[in-house]
Amino acid sequence: MCRIHVLSVASAKAPFEKTTIERRELRPNDILIDIQFCGICHSDIHNAFDEWGGGIFPMVPGHEMAGVVTAVGTEVTTFAIGDRVGVGCFVDSCGECEYCLRGEEQFCTKGVVNSYNSYDYDGNVTYGGYSQKIVVKEAFVVRIPDSLALDVASPLLCAGITTYSPLKKWNAGPGKRVAIVGMGGLGHLAVQYAHAMGAEVTVLSQSMNKKSESLELGADQYYATSDPATFTELANHFDLILNTVSSNLNVDAYLSMLRIDGTLVNVGAPTEPDKYQVFSLIMGRRSIAGSLVGGIQETQEMLDFSAEHGIAPKIEVISANQVDEAFERVVRSDVRYRFVIDMSTL
Ligand code: NAP
Ligand code: ZN
Repeated sequence: MCRIHVLSVASAKAPFEKTTIERRELRPNDILIDIQFCGICHSDIHNAFDEWGGGIFPMVPGHEMAGVVTAVGTEVTTFAIGDRVGVGCFVDSCGECEYCLRGEEQFCTKGVVNSYNSYDYDGNVTYGGYSQKIVVKEAFVVRIPDSLALDVASPLLCAGITTYSPLKKWNAGPGKRVAIVGMGGLGHLAVQYAHAMGAEVTVLSQSMNKKSESLELGADQYYATSDPATFTELANHFDLILNTVSSNLNVDAYLSMLRIDGTLVNVGAPTEPDKYQVFSLIMGRRSIAGSLVGGIQETQEMLDFSAEHGIAPKIEVISANQVDEAFERVVRSDVRYRFVIDMSTL
């Protein structure tokens, strides 16, 4: 066992405290990672505030971990000490069900083990990346390409894969008009992926404030959703709308911007149910869908794609004692565009 420093919350909405936890001894297939940076995902806030319910406290959030391998178990073959690696939203799955076998571990029928706020298959609570080190099965670790700095790479482990995966699945590419709703941590990466995949990209943001950065990142068009004219001007326009917003939208208004057979894919995960008129779907044979992060193999593919296309999040690196303040700023949409905690400050 090793005792390590972490940032944890004692109960829902409690401030972060510096404390310690134990990580398990390395099993033959385990890797010990020195976490150097961990991104702050809006899901960390939903979880630490217990907005989705079922929170396990005390909680150590964090599922955008980037670091360096410092020890390997006796049977580890794919990683060695010194390798630059990442860990995302989950750390174990059954490995046998149809979804695990096809590399979509997030949908494991036994239940995927999340990096934190979850129980592993031995019944132990999992603790995430707001910590100095983590012990993870090698099959759940990905390699960070040399051209990506570790701080910049960390948000890709959740925000990157969560946007790359649905854009690929719903065929964002040449000839497709894709809208990205919400220019936050997820949204600003989605813009870059959709552009690199060859789609015509439109950002739909609450205000005009993020226009120039959106265009720099590859958006072709930019509209403010606070202006009602946006919805009439863009009626029946998009093949795909990727919604990254963390609260409920007027779903009918967004559906009205889809062409026939268009799809509204939700990755943003509000706490309250959405409402919409079924006629908004019927009249245009439209679909509403959702998507959950992405499998390990696809996460590696996304990292390699990011390196190849020069895709990187815009980050603000903070120290361990600024996390409460960073949470408040994310809630106010006051982050451009991802906070990353420098774990050496813990
Ligand atoms: P974020 O950085 O806070 O970005 C969300 C963006 O949504 C904001 O920057 C803002 O963009 C827009 N927004 C916020 N409040 C809004 C409102 N009331 N009305 C309209 N737009 C609003 O959050 P994130 O880390 O990207 O995460 C976004 C959501 O995705 C969260 O709910 C998170 O839990 C979820 N998530 C899901 C998955 C998955 O697998 N499905 C994975 C990771 C995260 P503008 O300023 O441009 O309007
Ligand atoms: Zn996340």
